[in-house]
Amino acid sequence: MKLTNNLYFYREQGILDCNTYVITGNPGIIIDPGNPVFLPVKVGGLYKDGINPKDISVITNTHLHIDHCGADETFKKLSGAEIAIHPVHKENYQMVVVDGARLFGIQPLKLTEDYCLDHNRLNNDNVELEIIESPGHSPDCICFYNRQDKVLICGDVIFDMNTGRVDLPGGNSNELKKSIEALSCLEVEYLLPGHMGVVTGADKVASNFDFIKNNVLLWL
Ligand SMILES: [Zn+2]
Ligand SMILES: [Zn+2]
Repeated sequence: MKLTNNLYFYREQGILDCNTYVITGNPGIIIDPGNPVFLPVKVGGLYKDGINPKDISVITNTHLHIDHCGADETFKKLSGAEIAIHPVHKENYQMVVVDGARLFGIQPLKLTEDYCLDHNRLNNDNVELEIIESPGHSPDCICFYNRQDKVLICGDVIFDMNTGRVDLPGGNSNELKKSIEALSCLEVEYLLPGHMGVVTGADKVASNFDFIKNNVLLWL
């Protein structure tokens, strides 16, 4: 589903899946492919929107929880795209991916990155995305901010009326509070979280930040 020029949204489909975002242009970018079980549904959505997966050449993630990066390798196989992880994902791989898997009694995902993203930007010929490190939900959370279109892809840092949990390995409520405080200073018309619905309209985004600061954060 098209959200703005060059930006498409594919809703989470079920358990251990997440919202997926696609930015068209050169290179085409997919953020958080989600769970491989649901990838065919999302690829169907891409085709419906006139996007060929082969036109996407960068796969990246807001953080490396399995519900976000589980389908990276599968999407790579079907599209030929490369997996680009952020330096902060690499630094925290052991804690987030390996210790996280141990907690759930599952095998850690083997994720082979093709290259590392720049610390603070990911651009294509249509869109400039600033990368903002936003630890708290996990130590490797990053957000992607398109200042021109006022779009914030925020992963599991904030949701519609809630925040990400802080009880997984490396989670930290004080860091989450600081991250949310910093994000709330940005001009945002499209708040695009990793789960549940998107929040659109500057007023609604601002009241969502207020609600989270005045309610949810007090209990963390
Ligand atoms: Zn997460
Ligand atoms: Zn998630």
